Amino acid sequence: MGLFSKETCAFCGKEVGMMHRSKLQGGDFICTDCKYLTHPFIRIDHLNKESAKAVMEEVARDESFFQAANFRETTRRAAGKRYTFYDDYDAGLFALHTPETEKYKNHPIFYMMMVRPFDRNLAFSLQQGNTTAMPALSKSQYEAMITLEEKKNADGSPDGWVMKMPYFREHMNIEIRFPQNMKEDDVKYWYSTVRTIIVNYNTSTARLKMHQTNLYQTAGAVLKAAIKGEGTEAIEEKVKEGIETANGINDGTVKRGLFGRLKK
Ligand SMILES: [Zn+2]
Repeated sequence: MGLFSKETCAFCGKEVGMMHRSKLQGGDFICTDCKYLTHPFIRIDHLNKESAKAVMEEVARDESFFQAANFRETTRRAAGKRYTFYDDYDAGLFALHTPETEKYKNHPIFYMMMVRPFDRNLAFSLQQGNTTAMPALSKSQYEAMITLEEKKNADGSPDGWVMKMPYFREHMNIEIRFPQNMKEDDVKYWYSTVRTIIVNYNTSTARLKMHQTNLYQTAGAVLKAAIKGEGTEAIEEKVKEGIETANGINDGTVKRGLFGRLKK
């Protein structure tokens, strides 16, 4: 099996040359099309066939959250590229659209508490997904970890910016590149919006968990309606109900009932 031989994608079975595949741990290959069903910020070469499959399932589920969530958007553009930060401050979630993510089919959901410690409840943070270790740092130390760096070419001329966001999950590195032709004010505005939202995030654990329950239920109802072919109106109705419940959680009219159910 040489460099120029074709290899079989472990997911779709397509035969692909070296320019259109990545090697997984354990020796399997994934084609570029199947790679775009995974996660833009997880190092594909650190996954094996099973974990890559699990990531595909996770981001497909995230996409239904993404469709059902009540996100605010902060967008800046440069040279036909869009940079959007979606945040749902109440639920403690965010999502991204950047040149790094745009070829990927699904929007992964990120948790603000995995960028920085969520309140003082470190144990709760560690339960949220495949975290490795959550170092106990102060708020200002976390703020300093979300960085914007100016890049330079070998001759010292400017070459855009790179934003880095710490995220406490294995094999994940959130790095966003802004090209030189993007306005510096736009880059800084986007960066400071992201940093402010994440660092000031401080919702109570109980309310956050209610929002997450609501989001799961809403996403589930939307998927079910879509699978049954109930049509756009029925789906919009489910989303509307979810948004009303979210507002109810915020103003205290929705409470936790028996077995963790949301009680309106
Ligand atoms: Zn494939």
